[in-house]
Amino acid sequence: MNYISTRDNKVKVSAAKAISLGISADGGLFLPESIPTLSEEDFENLKVSDYKGRAKIVLSKFLTDFTAEEIDACVEGAYTGSFEDESPAPISILGPDISVLELWHGPTCAFKDLALQLLPYLLTTSSKKVSAGKTVILVATSGDTGKAALEGFRDVPNTDIIVFYPSEGVSSMQKLQMDTQEGENVCVCAIKGNFDDAQSRVKEIFTDAEMNAKLAAAGYNFSSANSINWGRLVPQIVYYVSAYCDMLADGNNNNNEFNVVVPTGNFGNILAAYYAKEMGVPIKKLICASNANNVLTDFINTGVYDRNRDFYTTISPSMDILISSNLERMLYMLSGGNDKQVADWQASLKAEGKFAVSDEVKAKIAELFWGGCCNDEQTLETIKDVYDKYGYLMDTHTAVAFSVYKQYRDTYGDTTPVLIASTASPYKFANSVLAAFDAEIPADDFAKNDALSVLTATDIPAPIEALKGKTRRFGEVIDRDEMKAAICKYLGI
Ligand SMILES: *Cc1c(COP(=O)(O)O)cnc(C)c1O
Repeated sequence: MNYISTRDNKVKVSAAKAISLGISADGGLFLPESIPTLSEEDFENLKVSDYKGRAKIVLSKFLTDFTAEEIDACVEGAYTGSFEDESPAPISILGPDISVLELWHGPTCAFKDLALQLLPYLLTTSSKKVSAGKTVILVATSGDTGKAALEGFRDVPNTDIIVFYPSEGVSSMQKLQMDTQEGENVCVCAIKGNFDDAQSRVKEIFTDAEMNAKLAAAGYNFSSANSINWGRLVPQIVYYVSAYCDMLADGNNNNNEFNVVVPTGNFGNILAAYYAKEMGVPIKKLICASNANNVLTDFINTGVYDRNRDFYTTISPSMDILISSNLERMLYMLSGGNDKQVADWQASLKAEGKFAVSDEVKAKIAELFWGGCCNDEQTLETIKDVYDKYGYLMDTHTAVAFSVYKQYRDTYGDTTPVLIASTASPYKFANSVLAAFDAEIPADDFAKNDALSVLTATDIPAPIEALKGKTRRFGEVIDRDEMKAAICKYLGI
């Protein structure tokens, strides 16, 4: 299976090359030339396998240049002992037709762990195959990717990782998680600006000829741990396939079809659900949930993507994004593989901050997706309502998904079973979650966790508790224009 660039489909590389590069030199994103499907026999095997077994089956469809032994080693390394449970992605059943896919039982308590525990293995294996030198992982984060990537890549040989986060755009727990990161090959910088600023700059640096030459001279090459890297997306397809198998076993999927609701920012998670659907998982509607930064809701409804709007800092900060990178892959698929068209849309997004798709593409979007959004107040109400009704505590991002699901169901009366992707532990956002209960909010972060634990009779995740008493190693705030210099300084080049 070859991988092609969304902006030039004559560029064809192996999976190992795509993962090792992270992004195509033309600025496009790599995606598989065609989507592999799961046969009846595959599904029979998937049903009787554990999570790791399912991961191996799905990965083998996409990473055709990896040997079975390589895939085995990657999956075993990633998912042995790093998650609370044997099953890294358990389902909580709230009602006969509402299931929640909990993706936050890993080392950093957000869904990014599912991909970022595996990516370092995929990347080191890929780099060996294509004989790339030492790798520098550059990450722009809206809060959760940064920490998950740092944990995944810490002390991985021949690898350095540099993370940029918006200084005012992450929760205090997220900041603490990153600033206290341990490891000899890690660097963390806060930047003045928002996530879009960080991500755009990082994407520019990846394709900056001067930087690349400087790096090459020192025996390094860049790669990405953001969801622009295909190696981030393929592990995410696994949990939708796995959830389907679990739902069948639970009997919570009687008519064999379900809707998926995904709290969305960079469009990676929901794109993985789309791939699972195309592979043969019977997902009916992909419901894309946004917060007040509702650029995707408008796009799905109107076919016009327009980022010329106010940027809001919300209580679901990991979704505070106006430029959703992975939409580019979706556009490629929706346009029937029209690379020129995709390149034009992206150029227009860069120059004018907007683009409009044809009626044909718009109709395809409407068939696959439903888009909705909610504000902070609705998010808080939802946390409280769901807790009161189901005794289930959710974080702010998952609450956005739940709120949008309610809107969808109220609008269409669609009672198809639903799977809601729960993307973070409530303890990453204790301040906002406590506010939902009108509870008194202590000043100290750890006291907030204690208060939330007592109030809701839920446990504080061990990795969050373990941050107590760790020293802050990082915390420097730099200007966007200093990002390149910061990279050179850290690498000593
Ligand atoms: C990253 C993140 C999201 C958004 O996911 P995308 O794949 O970027 O759309 C949603 N919720 C949480 C908690 C996240 O960390």
